[in-house]
Amino acid sequence: MKPKTRLIHGGIFGDEATGAVSTPIYQVSTYKQEAVGKFKGYEYSRTGNPTRHALEELIADVEYGHAGFAFGSGMAAISSVMMLFSAGDHVILTDDVYGGTYRVMNKVLNRFGLEFTFVDTGDLEQVKAAVQENTKAVFIETPTNPLLKVTDIGAVATFAKGKGLLTIVDNTFMTPYFQNPISLGADIVLHSATKYIGGHSDVVAGLVVVNTAQLAEELHFVQNSVGAILGPQDSWLLMRGLKTLGIRMEETNTNAQQIAEFLDGNEAVEAVIYPGLDSHSGKALMEKQARGFGGMISFDVGSKEKADDLLAKLKYFTLAESLGAVESLISVPAQMTHASIPEDRRAELGITEGLVRISVGIEDVEDLIEDLQQALS
Ligand SMILES: *Cc1c(COP(=O)(O)O)cnc(C)c1O
Repeated sequence: MKPKTRLIHGGIFGDEATGAVSTPIYQVSTYKQEAVGKFKGYEYSRTGNPTRHALEELIADVEYGHAGFAFGSGMAAISSVMMLFSAGDHVILTDDVYGGTYRVMNKVLNRFGLEFTFVDTGDLEQVKAAVQENTKAVFIETPTNPLLKVTDIGAVATFAKGKGLLTIVDNTFMTPYFQNPISLGADIVLHSATKYIGGHSDVVAGLVVVNTAQLAEELHFVQNSVGAILGPQDSWLLMRGLKTLGIRMEETNTNAQQIAEFLDGNEAVEAVIYPGLDSHSGKALMEKQARGFGGMISFDVGSKEKADDLLAKLKYFTLAESLGAVESLISVPAQMTHASIPEDRRAELGITEGLVRISVGIEDVEDLIEDLQQALS
């Protein structure tokens, strides 16, 4: 089954009880038991809900994993995955991970005795050098946000496996349609489904897929114990989003390539970062491990003032945090998504005041380019 078909025919197709082609929203918290302990697979909706279950089967299928899990947000998913570890354990992470990931590790989970080292996971030598006796996992984001740095998932996973470490990949930017980390050797893949998977700026959710029965059992125990689950309405919205993920990603990808090339040739733009440009050092690696370059472009207009000016003039790019929706969005990472990262650390990473990030939507690309053209001139 090809990826586009799998998004529609994967998991549990429709509703077995009624033949409904769309999985119903089982808006229910508890289930009647025939006798104590005698029930039809569901006892309480934190533990399991049929709508959430259908979504979990689908995401497991489209990520080629063993089992899927749905959470109330991407951060709930990431935090729950981290609860597979114990006080004293150490995890290596990509240095320019999503701001919220950096914050939860350094301000919350560190208080529970977990230890973290942030390195450029695009350089395998740095990953190797960061391994300690208590290291349990490598957590990768690729391409990163907002600098779009690329990590070789297969190379890290091979090294990690040799050391008995888990490889965890935040696959939000690429989506299961363009990149499948488990097929490349990763153990756990996770998504902020708020972004492309939901796809319409109307739901906050997180998804995780694991590659073994043991990890599935451990994560289900955490999901049920901690309880950061996704509700049935939002689970349904994600299944609806997944059905069109293929066509949306194709359109986004085509639009983004054209916009990146336009920006690259515009003199008001100092630098353009897009993995589909020849100037991007990760292009060949992206071609090896992914089926597209995605819809995220970062570019530098030189200063905070110029960035503000651009924002004020744009018509079709909505100033907003988040990404991955049908409508194009624009943000200034230093002031918005990455404001929780200390200023000196931002400077170290290269997240300058004039750096603008766009999430290319599926509007007509001619309108988008025209809009950027007028705002930059
Ligand atoms: C948004 C995002 C998250 C956090 O997800 P939420 O759904 O906002 O909690 C994690 N990782 C990446 C790459 C993201 O873009």
